[in-house]
Amino acid sequence: MATDLISEIDRRRLDIAARLPEIKADALLVSSPANIRYLSDYTGSNGLILLLACETHFFTDPRYEISARENITGKVHIVKGPLIAGVIQIIKRKRLKRIGFESAWTQFEAYQRLKEDLPLGASLVPAGRIVEERRMLKSPAEIDTIRRSVNLNSEAYARVLKRIRPGVRESDVAAEIEYQMRMLGAEKPSFDTIVAAGARSALPHSQPTSNRIDANELLLIDMGASLEGYASDMTRVIHLGQPPKRIREMYRAVLEAQLAGIAAVQEGTTAGKIDATTRNVLKQHKLDKEFVHSTGHGLGLEIHEPPRIGKKDKTRLRAGMAITIEPGVYVEGLAGIRIEDTVLVTKNGCEVLTPTSKEFVQL
Ligand code: ZN
Ligand code: ZN
Repeated sequence: MATDLISEIDRRRLDIAARLPEIKADALLVSSPANIRYLSDYTGSNGLILLLACETHFFTDPRYEISARENITGKVHIVKGPLIAGVIQIIKRKRLKRIGFESAWTQFEAYQRLKEDLPLGASLVPAGRIVEERRMLKSPAEIDTIRRSVNLNSEAYARVLKRIRPGVRESDVAAEIEYQMRMLGAEKPSFDTIVAAGARSALPHSQPTSNRIDANELLLIDMGASLEGYASDMTRVIHLGQPPKRIREMYRAVLEAQLAGIAAVQEGTTAGKIDATTRNVLKQHKLDKEFVHSTGHGLGLEIHEPPRIGKKDKTRLRAGMAITIEPGVYVEGLAGIRIEDTVLVTKNGCEVLTPTSKEFVQL
C-alpha cells in the first residue's frame, strides 16, 4: 500500500477513535464492508475491524492471510470459522468493557454470539453511523478519485451515445455501457445500469429489457462507474427523433429544477433546503407530485451514502462532500425524465464534476 494512503487511513482511525468517549465505548466493532475498506483498504468479502483508542485489530480468514499481512496495518488476526470468535478473544484479552457496534451492519448471528460470550461486566453499545459521518467529508485524494470516476463515466456515455439508434435493445445499450466502463479502467458499474425507453422510463428504477428502442422514443440512461472503489453517478435523457411538446416542457422543467438545486448548494445549507429548492421549481410547473424520490444522495465508497438530499435531512453541507443532484418527474404511461450530476461542495458554493452536456440531445 502507498505510504500516503497508510497515513490517510491512520488519520481516519485516529478520528474515529477520538469519538469513542462520546459514544461511551472503549472499542468499536466495524462490520460494514465500506467502512472496513475505509479503515483498512481491505476489499475482500470477509473482514471485521475492532478499533480501540490506540490500536486497530483486523480479522479475516485464511484465504486473505497473505494479502492482509502484506497490506493491512495494525494487528492482523487470521481466524478459522466465524470471525466474531476472534473478536471476542481480543475483547477478553484487552479487558474491554463497552463495545460499540454498528447496528445497521452487525449480523444478527454475530450479535447474538457477542452477547452470549462477552465477559462478565462487558456490554454492547449501539454506535450509530460514526464511520459514515467521517466518510461524508472526502479527502483531496478521495475527491481526485471521484473526479476520475465521474470523468470515466462520462467518457463511457459519450462512446455509447454514438452507437444508439432505432432497433437496438435496452439491454444492448446497458451491456455496451458496462463494456466501455471497463475498457476505460473501471472495476465495475457502481450499480445496475438503467436504460429505459419510452413509457418504461417512468419507472424510476427499471431494469433494461430486451425491447428494441423505437424510432421516436425517449431514452433514459442512469449509469455510474466504480473506480478504485469510488462511485460516480449520472442520468441523462435523450430522444430519438423529434420530441413532442409535452416531453420538451417536462425536460425544461426538470433541467430548471436541477440547475436551481445546484445553485443552492453551498456550505452551511441543509440537505433538506436543497431538496425544497428543486421541489419548488417543479411545483411552479405543476410537476411536484410527479417527483417521487429525493433530490440526491452522497456518494463515495458506496453509491448511496449520507447525506441524503431529502426533505427531512438536516445535515449541513460542508466543503468536501460529494453529492448528486437528480430531480426527476415520472408520468405513468408517457415518460420519465431525470437529470443527474455528481457535485462537489466547495468553500464557495459547489463544483459540478460531471462534464456531460445537459442539452436535450436528439438523435
Ligand atoms: Zn443515478
Ligand atoms: Zn443517484
